[in-house]
Order: sequence, then C-alpha cells, then structure tokens
Amino acid sequence: MSKQKLEYCRRCQESTNGGISRRDNKSPLCTKCEELEAFIDMAETLTYPLIKWEFKFQQLLAPQNGMDIFESFLKFRKSIGKKDPSFAEIHYLIWDDMFGCKDKKGWMRQFGKIYADKEKAWKI
Ligand SMILES: [Zn+2]
Repeated sequence: MSKQKLEYCRRCQESTNGGISRRDNKSPLCTKCEELEAFIDMAETLTYPLIKWEFKFQQLLAPQNGMDIFESFLKFRKSIGKKDPSFAEIHYLIWDDMFGCKDKKGWMRQFGKIYADKEKAWKI
C-alpha cells in the first residue's frame, strides 16, 4: 500500500488536493492558488490585486532576485500581447503597497523614467 505524500502549496503553504501549477506542470498548488494562477495567465490585463499577488509570490520564491524574475514575467506577458499597465505604473503600485507612497506624481517624476527605459530595453 502506498502512502500518500502530504503536499503543500508552493504559493501559500496550505495543504493541496493534488493540484499543480500549469506553468511548470509539477509544483503543488492548493485549489485557490491553482485558480488564481490560471486566472492571471488568462487575464488580458493584470489588475492591481493580481499584480500584488504575483509579485509577493515571486519574492517568496526568490528573495534575492524576485524583482528580476517578476520583470521577466511581465516581459513575457508583453511579448505574447498582454495589455498590462506600464512597468513604471506596476512599480509604483508595488512601491505604494510596500512603503505607502501616495505621491504618485512625485514618484513618477523621480523614478518613472528609469522603469520606462527598462521597459523600452525589453525589445519586444
Ligand atoms: Zn495556495
């Protein structure tokens, strides 16, 4: 008799029902995260809650270079024709979430060009 291995969701650490990530076809996911991940991948445009959820997950997976992985993820989405907010806009949303920066105009004046230039360099 085989013992069933108890697996935990790669995104939220809840126990799973045998669900897996469609991105790599192997990482265990709970039902909720499996649905959310599929929803993100199907979404034509990422809304703020989805951006936040995805970003937190990328950070969790790779605290040292989560931002680079997140940027690659956004670049990939753009390359297949998704219509997400600009990279600068997404950065501002994350910044606001982490540090409570409500001065969007000021932030954009100071940092907007950096992220706009990064996005231009994606060469899609
Ligand atoms: Zn989960």
